[in-house]
Amino acid sequence: MCLRQLLQSSQLQRAWRAAFLKHVQGRHPGAWRWTHSGGGPYRAVIFDMGGVLLPSPGRVAAEWEVQNHIPSGTIVKALISGGENGPWMKFMRAEITTEDFLQEFGRLCSEISKTSVPVDSFFSLLTSERVAKQFPVMTEAITQIRAKGLQTAVLSNNFYLPNGKSFLPLDRKQFDVVVESCLEGVCKPDPRMYKLCLERLGRQPSESIFLDDLGPNLKAAAGLGIHTIKVDDPETAVKELETLLGFPLRMAVPNTRPVRKTMEIPKDALEKYLKDLLGIQPTGPLELLQFDHGQSNPTYYVKLANHQLVLRKKPPGTLLPSAHAVEREFRIMKALGNAGVPVPKVLDLCEDSSVVGTPFYLMEYCPGLIYKDPSLPGLEPSQRRAIYTAMNRVLCKIHSVDLKAAGLEDYGKHGDYLARQVQTWIKQYRASETSTIPAMERLIKWLPLHLPRQQRTTVVHGDFRLDNLLFHPETAEVLAVLDWELSTLGDPLADVAYNCLAHYLPSGFPIQPGLSDCDLTELGIPTAEDYFRMYCLHMGIPPIENWNFYMAFSFFRIAAILQGVYKRSLTGQASSATAKQTGKLTEFMSNLAWDFAIKEGFQIFKEMPATKPLMRSHHTWSLLRTPGMRSYVTSTDSSPAHASKGALIFSPEGLPHQVRELYQQLKEFMERHVYPAEPELQRHQVSAERWTPSPLVEDLKEKAKAEGLWNLFLPLETDPKKKYGAGLTNMEYAHLCEVMGTSLYAPEIFNCSAPDTGNMELLVRYGTEEQKARWLIPLLEGKARSCFAMTEPQVASSDATNIESSIREEDGFYVINGHKWWITGGHGEVLFEQVRVPKENIILGPGRGFEIAQGRLGPGRIHHCMRLIGCSERALALMKARVKSRVAFGKPLVEQGTVLADIALSRVEIEQARLLVLKAAHVMDVVGNKAAALDIAMIKMVAPSMASRVIDRAIQAFGAAGLSSNYPLAQFFAGARALRFADGPDEVHQAAVAKMELKHHS
Ligand SMILES: Cc1cc2nc3c(=O)[nH]c(=O)nc-3n(C[C@H](O)[C@H](O)[C@H](O)COP(=O)(O)OP(=O)(O)OC[C@H]3O[C@@H](n4cnc5c(N)ncnc54)[C@H](O)[C@@H]3O)c2cc1C
Repeated sequence: MCLRQLLQSSQLQRAWRAAFLKHVQGRHPGAWRWTHSGGGPYRAVIFDMGGVLLPSPGRVAAEWEVQNHIPSGTIVKALISGGENGPWMKFMRAEITTEDFLQEFGRLCSEISKTSVPVDSFFSLLTSERVAKQFPVMTEAITQIRAKGLQTAVLSNNFYLPNGKSFLPLDRKQFDVVVESCLEGVCKPDPRMYKLCLERLGRQPSESIFLDDLGPNLKAAAGLGIHTIKVDDPETAVKELETLLGFPLRMAVPNTRPVRKTMEIPKDALEKYLKDLLGIQPTGPLELLQFDHGQSNPTYYVKLANHQLVLRKKPPGTLLPSAHAVEREFRIMKALGNAGVPVPKVLDLCEDSSVVGTPFYLMEYCPGLIYKDPSLPGLEPSQRRAIYTAMNRVLCKIHSVDLKAAGLEDYGKHGDYLARQVQTWIKQYRASETSTIPAMERLIKWLPLHLPRQQRTTVVHGDFRLDNLLFHPETAEVLAVLDWELSTLGDPLADVAYNCLAHYLPSGFPIQPGLSDCDLTELGIPTAEDYFRMYCLHMGIPPIENWNFYMAFSFFRIAAILQGVYKRSLTGQASSATAKQTGKLTEFMSNLAWDFAIKEGFQIFKEMPATKPLMRSHHTWSLLRTPGMRSYVTSTDSSPAHASKGALIFSPEGLPHQVRELYQQLKEFMERHVYPAEPELQRHQVSAERWTPSPLVEDLKEKAKAEGLWNLFLPLETDPKKKYGAGLTNMEYAHLCEVMGTSLYAPEIFNCSAPDTGNMELLVRYGTEEQKARWLIPLLEGKARSCFAMTEPQVASSDATNIESSIREEDGFYVINGHKWWITGGHGEVLFEQVRVPKENIILGPGRGFEIAQGRLGPGRIHHCMRLIGCSERALALMKARVKSRVAFGKPLVEQGTVLADIALSRVEIEQARLLVLKAAHVMDVVGNKAAALDIAMIKMVAPSMASRVIDRAIQAFGAAGLSSNYPLAQFFAGARALRFADGPDEVHQAAVAKMELKHHS
């Protein structure tokens, strides 16, 4: 039996009917038919506010926690903490002020989640206009209840806002009685609250129905004899209320409402037009309602005689020429209808604006079900699977339409759809950009470079999602695909990816509920991968390899759209809390997009062909006089495109033009200024003045700054606008950093030394504007130095959890006590005794150190490795020169086989390590620091010991001179040796590599 037959089988139809009835009838299946009117024994309906008329604090918290990376459930735990005497209940009884509440509540949340929780932002969201909005289904129900002569009341545990008003974002006119806990000083479930409400209504408990989402509140009401309804979701609750009251509480046409004042259209003119069109003489009046959806093009339900129609028109006002093209919608629906795609049957296009004010078209009204929640609550797993399969099928049908036969060949441009789309959305995003979003910057670079090579051209819907489909109420049949406003000709896979967006969003996500936290197997819903596979199977095409690209693009597009909304909300009427939330959504979406880019990046990286590698032509260091000089016989004139194509550039010759120039300039500076200064700098280091900055270094710093050889380390990713640094990628910097590594003094001269580099990056990423002004700017200017104080003499500091130093809060200060040593900037030993740090100096907030440490240990983590390559190159260059000139046992040392073997080994080891450094830097650029963890750990494990070996061989070849201060070898060796544990012990990196190897490559 094929799937279609299966779906049509009577057994399945029965299952559908049962599920549908369950869906529409709530918990009272027997009472579906309206048997009586007027409310029976009930005379009043009492509503709780949060969770019944508006989203509950718990629901608001769920989405807020996701967006703010707060452990899920923190807010709810804190809300119920302390019971009747907890801060929330005290706040509801107006026993404490908002300020006191937020302080106490914030403390509780931080205790529960072990992280700092910005409760102010949660409170603003909870009370924002966007969130605190009455559910339309409840508005409708209240209207119907009152129309039948019943009373309504709201009985709310609420609070005072900082402006002194009570929080009740409802139209009070809807209620006969309003009882607010903060006014009364008493809260549900205290029976006094309910009694007060009944008294004011003048009703007996048995005459009233009470709706609440919380068990204890319902229990107290039931204890008084009030009939109760538990509200899990407003729609189901209204259905239950309908059955209790015995009359309908919803408009006859689902998802409609009375026409909005600003959207009214002249009924007389429309009626006349319809009479002519349909050739009828109706007796009754024309009925007009407005659909909830279709914000862009207002959509109306029209009933005249027995004709039920849908009218869709352009919005009033001046419009962009290509926007709101209802003519296109009419054209595509007509063509697709003829081609067998389920779309509402279109009747007429009226381009004459004199009828209803703008052009419009008419289609037949098609009754059916729209599933708004992609988790399809109330359905069985097999039914859910069938719905998703049907959706997939209908998408295939759209994408299989023969453009020529359907007369749609000129409905859009052919080819390069994604290239055009990417540019369009980049442009849109730039036009509404308000601040730099790192993920968006990365995507703007990444997307154009990773466009799929092959794209088909078909009809694309442009907004294909579950809630744009009208389903048969009893079978998994798509009756109609709605909303063709964004349709065009393009790459069909963009529709498939867009269709899977919900899979990656959490269930409580604003704008669109998602599935990311649902157990799809249990629900019977295919995963996104399965959905793609299903599509390929239905279409008869090979599996899609690069669907991560399409997902990245889809999320990028949504992020760009949200940024537009955000910009408008900043200039429009929206409250600042609403605007802020929309801003956060943009970032959230862009991060999701970048996650997909990372996944795709890995795939591309693995598949990258090894053709046309840029060869490092020679690796010799020329003369001792010019250490640090690598000479190249050939110089390939490579274009900047080499870097931008994402290729691994393993020769400086392959660097983009400007970077190559910088590289050359750096090398010249080293030769002109740094190497010659080394003897003097070394003298200063052993002199009595060694604890004060060397004037020569300060002088060289000014010279380097003047030449633009300054702050080269800040990676493009951290500083996309090149506000603070040179804007190099990690890989580009690796080549330059290697050159700096040839001299121990160079990094400081170019303001690229540790730990300042990591600290500066940290301030760029996490510092407030005040903190940046106070610390980052002086550091960037080379006027201040910084340190990183972690290691303690008493404990094994390889393990950061051993730290014994203490920090406590006292009168607006943090008080620090501890003993540190080996603190670079003089490798000093430091005692912190009652050190008082003003609270505002903390970066990012208490409890967020780990997060910062992770960020800090990004690119900075491999700078040591980059430098060690340079250091090893210089050691090898010195060794080669030495063994050629020094004679023992009648011949130059270089003629000894052991010396040759040492040289060969050193060359090979340096090359191996360099490739690994460059690869790690490249992976960081292409797929991000997090995904490069393995490569970073590998190179940290390899570079210090490799350098130690190479330098050790050079010292051996030099004999005693190798240990003297006439050459830098002894110092190099000490440095490389220290890095075998100072940047994390070799063993710890080994363990990390092994763990990742076992996890990912089993
Ligand atoms: C030149 C230099 C500069 C430094 N700069 C700074 C600085 O600026 N700021 C700062 O805070 N610290 C700095 N340090 C200190 C450095 O970070 C620590 O020495 C390092 O973290 C190791 O800690 P520890 O010395 O307490 O060794 P311990 O933690 O006692 O470890 C000793 C040894 O135990 C072994 N070991 C540890 N863990 C494992 C494991 N998981 N598996 C197997 N073996 C293990 C390793 O062989 C390790 O070398 C610097 C050190 C030097 C030498």
